[in-house]
Amino acid sequence: MKREGLTLGILGGGQLAQMLALDAIPLGVQVTVLEPAPDAGAALCARHIQAPYDDPAGLEVLAGCDAVTLEFENVPVAALEYLEGRVPVRPGAGLLAHSKHRAHEKAGLRAAGAGTAEFAVIEAESDLSGALERVGGQGILKTSELGYDGKGQRRVSSDAELRAAWEELGGVACVLEGLVPFAREVSLGVARTAAGDLAFGPLVENVHRSGILRTSLYLGGDQRAAQQARDIARRVAEAWELEGLMTLEFFELPGGELLVNEVAPRVHNSGHLTQDGGGLSQFGAQVRAVLGLPLSDWAPLLPTAMVNWVGVEDEAAQPDWDAVDALPGTHIHLYHKAWRPGRKLGHVNLTAPDSETLRARLTELERLIP
Ligand code: AMP
Repeated sequence: MKREGLTLGILGGGQLAQMLALDAIPLGVQVTVLEPAPDAGAALCARHIQAPYDDPAGLEVLAGCDAVTLEFENVPVAALEYLEGRVPVRPGAGLLAHSKHRAHEKAGLRAAGAGTAEFAVIEAESDLSGALERVGGQGILKTSELGYDGKGQRRVSSDAELRAAWEELGGVACVLEGLVPFAREVSLGVARTAAGDLAFGPLVENVHRSGILRTSLYLGGDQRAAQQARDIARRVAEAWELEGLMTLEFFELPGGELLVNEVAPRVHNSGHLTQDGGGLSQFGAQVRAVLGLPLSDWAPLLPTAMVNWVGVEDEAAQPDWDAVDALPGTHIHLYHKAWRPGRKLGHVNLTAPDSETLRARLTELERLIP
C-alpha cells in the first residue's frame, strides 16, 4: 500500500489534532483539520480549514481525504451525515451515538457485558423520586451530553440536593450515577481496523485534581488488571463495531473489579505518555487504525509518567521550564493555547529506566508544575 500521499481529515483542530498530525507526517500522511477557532493548535502542522464543523465547503475537502477521524465527540450529526458514504469516518456515527450521550453509553456498555456504576436516567422531574435510593443513597448527577473534565456534574447525598442539582444543571437530561468507592482510576485505549484487527494501549493509572486529569502513570506491572481491561475493551469495541481508536476510563474497586466510567471515541489525555516511552504512540496508533496501516499494541517500553499543565488562577504562576528541562527524562509538550484557568495548556512526559527512579523524579516534576 502506498504511504506518502495518504490524506487524513480531522474534525477538530486543538491539541489532540495537533499531536495526531505530528505523528501522521513521518508516516507519509498529510492532515487537514476542520476547526472554527482561528488559533487552532493543529494549524501549526496541518492544513487548517477555518469554518464551522458542519460547513459544506469544509466538509467537501474532508470528503476528498482517504479517511476522516475526530478529536472530540460532540461532532454535529449533520457533519457525519454529509460525509457518510463518501469517505470512511472512523469512528463513525453509530459509535458516537453511544459515546456522546451518557445514558446511551451506560446502556451500551451494559449490553456489551461491561460493568458500570449503578445509574438512573433523569429526563423529567418525575424521574427524581426514588432515584438516589436506587443508586445507593449517594451519587453524582451528570448531564447526559456536553460534560467533560468534571463540568456539568454535581455530587448529591439527599433527595433535596438531587432536586437542587438538577435545577442548577438546567433541568436537562441527566444520568444519576451511584458514588463508586474506587481504589484507583485507570484507563486503556483500544484500536480496531475496518478488517476487525484489534490492538491495545497500556493500562495507565490516573490521578485527577478538581475533576481534571493531573498525573498519569505507567509502570508496566499490573498484568491482571491490564488483562481484565483488555477483555472489557475488546467486548465493547466489538459490540460497538469500533473502527479507529477509543479510550475507556475505569474505576477499579478495592477487590480489583473494573467498572467503566466513560468512553472517549479517540486518543485521550491519559495516553499522552505513550509519546515518549519508546513504543508506538496512541496518536500513531489512531492514524494507523483509521487509515488501515499495520498496527500493533502501543504500551511504552519504559516506565513512563505524564503531568498536565493546566492554567491556574494566577497567570504568573508558570511552570519552571528550565528546571523541568534539567530533570532527566522529561519531554515538554506545549499546545500554543491562550492561558485560561482550568484550561489544558500542555503536558510533560517523563521516562526512567526503572519504577523507583520514575516515582522519585515524578515527585520532583510535580513540584515544578503549579
Ligand atoms: P467524569 O467526567 O465522568 O470522568 O468524572 C470526573 C471525575 O469525577 C472522575 O475521574 C472521578 O474522579 C469522579 N467521578 C465521576 N463519576 C464518579 C462516580 N460515579 N463515583 C465516584 N467518582 C466519580
